[in-house]
Amino acid sequence: MMAKEETVNEPKDLVEPTPEEMKKMEKEEKTAEKMIEKVEEKEDEKMVKEAEEEPKKKTFAEIRKEREKKEQEEKLVSWVPKTQIGKDVKAGKEKDIDEILDGRKRILEPEIVDTLLKLETDLVLIGQAKGKFGGGKRRAWRQTQKKTKEGNILTFSAMAIVGDKKGHVGVGYGKAKETLPAREKSLRTAKLNLIRVRRGCAHFDCSCDEPHTVPYEVNGKSGSVKIRLTPAPQGTGLVVGDEVKKVLKLAGIKDVYGTTKGHVRTTFNLVKATINALTKTTKLEK
Ligand SMILES: [Zn+2]
Repeated sequence: MMAKEETVNEPKDLVEPTPEEMKKMEKEEKTAEKMIEKVEEKEDEKMVKEAEEEPKKKTFAEIRKEREKKEQEEKLVSWVPKTQIGKDVKAGKEKDIDEILDGRKRILEPEIVDTLLKLETDLVLIGQAKGKFGGGKRRAWRQTQKKTKEGNILTFSAMAIVGDKKGHVGVGYGKAKETLPAREKSLRTAKLNLIRVRRGCAHFDCSCDEPHTVPYEVNGKSGSVKIRLTPAPQGTGLVVGDEVKKVLKLAGIKDVYGTTKGHVRTTFNLVKATINALTKTTKLEK
């Protein structure tokens, strides 16, 4: 009697369930538990499998590349464009990089290029490890020292190349107190300096009609360095120095003969001369 009176006065949601309801609830709980267990089992299996496969499939370089790609994607999502072209690109109104480049509008935000192209990057070896008479090994970072009263201040500079291997390439230079920021700066300027490269076949030995070489002979100059790029038939490869090769590769040129003049050990000018020559592939067209 007492118990009954008490339950009557209790709020509805606190009423004890009937034995039948209890059974039903228990049953439901059990099936839910089973389902969760199954899902978890599957997930565990997947993780174990991935963990087993990972060391075989991925090298450190690949993992790093993936991480950088992810970071890049996240950066693009959170990008707030400041220029009109940037706003149009982010909104998906402007999808053609060539339209922007041909419109002679300056690209002021690297994210524009990142959004529209699948870029690959490389570093030009502009530096040299210590070793007199040019005997040092080439490196990506050039180190310079400035003497002050407090001591020596180190500065690092880097030169980056970006390209989509489909007729777009850019080279940039960056300076900072540390190596990684120097690389970041050079990558950023490389994207802002992007140019369009026309490719063709145009060689008398080859009539494949594929865009694998320069459309005609082009000359470029920077400082004392001069470079000439001549069309070559399929299979020739890039008959140029290693640093010039990097630029042509990222531009999407597979075969070319090159000749250089001047102080070509200044890699910096050699690379700039190459870019200068590549701009001629579109300028003579008009
Ligand atoms: Zn050809």
